[in-house]
Amino acid sequence: MVRLKHTRRALLPVILVAAVLLPACGKPEASADADPMLAGAAVEEQETAEENEETVILEPAVPAGGVGRIMPVVVEQRDELICIDPGHGFRDPGTGADSFFPEGVYEREIAMQVSLLLDEALKARGFRTILTHDGETMPEGADLNWDGIFSAPYERPPYINNYIGPDYLVSIHVNAVGNPEKCGAMVFFDQNYYKLNDWNETAAAYIRDSIEEGVETTAVTQLVDSKEMEDASFAINRETKCASSLIEMGFCTNETDAENLQDPAWQKQMAEAIAEGIERFFDDLGQH
Ligand SMILES: [Zn+2]
Repeated sequence: MVRLKHTRRALLPVILVAAVLLPACGKPEASADADPMLAGAAVEEQETAEENEETVILEPAVPAGGVGRIMPVVVEQRDELICIDPGHGFRDPGTGADSFFPEGVYEREIAMQVSLLLDEALKARGFRTILTHDGETMPEGADLNWDGIFSAPYERPPYINNYIGPDYLVSIHVNAVGNPEKCGAMVFFDQNYYKLNDWNETAAAYIRDSIEEGVETTAVTQLVDSKEMEDASFAINRETKCASSLIEMGFCTNETDAENLQDPAWQKQMAEAIAEGIERFFDDLGQH
């Protein structure tokens, strides 16, 4: 609880506005001590006379449970291993041609940038993590039967199943379509006979909800069963034995999505939201 005394009535609206301007998700991140506007007000208190005294009681910052929360300094290590698959890579640039991405920017680069942020976000929550590749070196043990450079989607599931064996896999992608109006994120899952558990839809729904809550998306984030989809990319969902999801973060063929996808702050929002969804899922799973 923070008490500030103010000698001038005019200051009161300023403080009320400051309270309203806290993050839109309603999760205050900083105490009044850290707020330069409020700190300035406190200094002003000492310099002015003690007349027309007003007392404003500010509620203490609530520890946030969602995206953007203040992380504890000591991270409790968790048992779960999360595998992050940056979509495409090496000589496969993924989508990006004929899009709102500038020349030379492709899905491959964006997927890697968000994957690295996701790696940080998951580690900060105590998860063990591993990336399927770093875009430069072949992972040891990869079975390069398809195109010999680990970019074909069919090369990754055997590697993930045999060499990584994660508790959860998330594959990061960028969408593209002819219609420039189409926008927003999609979370795909595939519950099938390869899967060693039936968590796929539930886990994907947690991630979808977390993206809805924490990311400035251009459309409602969709949860999609990719079972019927022929696209080779979905082999990563279809043929891995662990629970998994494939996330199409937005459309590079939509102008706003393309801008967001290249914006480091938006990328971080997305990475934090995915990590948050995964954390909430495993937290709830542990309670059953
Ligand atoms: Zn892709």
